[in-house]
Amino acid sequence: MVILKTSRELAKMREAGRISQGALREAGKAVEPGVSTLELDTIVRSYIERMGAVPSFLGYGGFPASACISVNNVVIHGIPSKKQILKNGDIVSIDVGAYINGYHGDNAWTFACGDVTREAQALMDATRESLFEGISKAVAGNRIGDIGHAVQRYVEARSYSVVRDYVGHGVGARLHEDPSVPNYGTPGHGVRLLPGMVIAIEPMVNQGTHRVRVLKDKWTTVTADGQLSAHFEHTIAITPGGPVILTMPD
Ligand code: MG
Repeated sequence: MVILKTSRELAKMREAGRISQGALREAGKAVEPGVSTLELDTIVRSYIERMGAVPSFLGYGGFPASACISVNNVVIHGIPSKKQILKNGDIVSIDVGAYINGYHGDNAWTFACGDVTREAQALMDATRESLFEGISKAVAGNRIGDIGHAVQRYVEARSYSVVRDYVGHGVGARLHEDPSVPNYGTPGHGVRLLPGMVIAIEPMVNQGTHRVRVLKDKWTTVTADGQLSAHFEHTIAITPGGPVILTMPD
């Protein structure tokens, strides 16, 4: 069931979004060769707690950290570790949620560590742009399929692929609500978008095959062919005035 939010609830969600964004920004600034992914996780957790919020991911389904940190061929759900030291040329996806006043925010960004290859940069650029293509379709009266189609078309025109096994989602009092927001779809199909809906649009884009697999730790999700993957996400409110990105600084 899709839960519509009142404008008062959206104001609270904006606070959750702002904190989620701030935590992501702080962690992103710290991405450089020699830093461990656990250090990035600590930055995320400290920032969120300093803001009086709670890391949404910590303990969610048993997840052991405050951020998912997914390097290179890891698509999503990478577990931060003090043993994983970033190297020059890595691409580092950080996914962060914060919970405050009864609501969650959720956002992700892929950062370049030092100097990345032209191919890696192009993948990150295309994935980020595809997110904004999707956001542009997050308009009342459109359908979920319009968003997914816009993302997929942009990505596949550049010979990349969109991950099928994981999708975006509604956000609210729970981190994952209805509806599902796939990064593929058919225009005019799926749930109709209404003012008050809040969704996370989060393209996960692979250099090669769209297929992924989950490692033995039951979290770390990698590309099936070992090629790179990027991930960008914003939490969006559908409003009468168009899409509003809740995970933005003021
Ligand atoms: Mg999400």
